[in-house]
Amino acid sequence: MSREEFFRFVEENQVRFVRLQFTDINGMMKNVEIPADELEGALNGGIMFDGSSVEGFARLHESDMYLKPDLRTVAMLPWTFDGHRSARIICDVYSDPEHPFEGDPRYRLKLVEEKARKMGFVPYAGPEVEFFILPRQNNRPVFEFLDSGSYFDLLPVDIAEHIRTEVSVHLEEMGLDVETTHHEVAPSQHEVDFRYAEPVIAADNVQTVKLVIKTLAIKNNLHATFMPKPFFGVNGSGMHVHMSLFTLDGRNAFYDETAPDGISQIMKYFIGGLIAHAREITAVTNPTVNSYKRLVPGYEAPVNIAWSKGNRTALIRIPKSRGKATRIEYRSPDPSCNPYLAFAVILAAGLDGIENKIEPPAAVEENIYQMSESEKQKRGIHRLPSNLKEALIEAENSKLVREVLGEHVWEKFSRLKEREWWEYSASVTDWERRKYENI
Ligand code: GLN
Ligand code: MG
Ligand code: MG
Ligand code: MG
Repeated sequence: MSREEFFRFVEENQVRFVRLQFTDINGMMKNVEIPADELEGALNGGIMFDGSSVEGFARLHESDMYLKPDLRTVAMLPWTFDGHRSARIICDVYSDPEHPFEGDPRYRLKLVEEKARKMGFVPYAGPEVEFFILPRQNNRPVFEFLDSGSYFDLLPVDIAEHIRTEVSVHLEEMGLDVETTHHEVAPSQHEVDFRYAEPVIAADNVQTVKLVIKTLAIKNNLHATFMPKPFFGVNGSGMHVHMSLFTLDGRNAFYDETAPDGISQIMKYFIGGLIAHAREITAVTNPTVNSYKRLVPGYEAPVNIAWSKGNRTALIRIPKSRGKATRIEYRSPDPSCNPYLAFAVILAAGLDGIENKIEPPAAVEENIYQMSESEKQKRGIHRLPSNLKEALIEAENSKLVREVLGEHVWEKFSRLKEREWWEYSASVTDWERRKYENI
């Protein structure tokens, strides 16, 4: 949208306030609201804010930062505040009016996208967002199931169905192209999928989807959670990421009609890069203590580093579609990640495979959950990190992760996450009390 179109949009929609949004290192969305008549200034110099109050941003003595609205992301918020209508714009963070802030997650992803373009590719990402909708009492979520529904179930078991429909309607109104919403495998679990886009826009969309779902849940006195494994014994919530590379003239570089399986050499190298770097990037794609409770055998989440054409126990699956839709599905990420940083490391790992011509190992079509340790060893199938600490050690030693995140983000991220791990390690859980009470 051009400036003129934007001001017409504000006029036509009677926008009273504009929410300028951005994302902190933890992947939490932040916003400042400005009255519509301040917009002119916001578009010229950017809006100044105090970066020292945002998780992982500036230090106190250099805390003035700027928000630069990205007009591609203008949308009306689907709800009103006291009858006033607000729009939102997602912003880039600048450290002064001329220079992007090195620690802005959106900027980190833009840098990797630029690298892809320099290599002659336009990257696309399509995430699938899973989540649970829980009851709410006294303003707190209650960890109980709302329904006994399962995959693709329909009413009357699915009492959150009207929320899913409302979510779709709102997202469409905000300009997102929703492809499907459905009940997921676990009770109270749901999924929203939307059309693939360039990674920065796809990450913006993840943030929008989470905001809309959380808001609508609360409006219905329910609670939406994107934590990866809220319940023992049923599936957790993943955020599978589909990715492909197109050439600058619009052909899918992952598709080769002359290859018997339709998979191009470029795509093979991309898979090779992902497999080579999978352990290193997991701290970013699965950044919470809870993430690793999902990555266990038996719940459709990956545990082992392998690729496959159909098998959902592998880390990378190649969906059947060919032609424009030829793509990889990277299955480890979960929705507790910062989508900008996660897409950045996934894309960078794949591009590194192309740059260094990394051949992937043979595809694995068997159920890997059921494979013996010695069989896995024989075939060179390694495991994803088993916990956050192990993942952090891998990331710490990774040139790729350190480069993609940049020193600023890496330093803040690792400090936050080491603390999180320490807190968890030192806390005494209900499980331990039950297990050891009679000792
Ligand atoms: N919930 C599963 C996961 O944790 C995925 C289930 C599916 O989409 N088939 O990744
Ligand atoms: Mg799906
Ligand atoms: Mg799913
Ligand atoms: Mg999937």
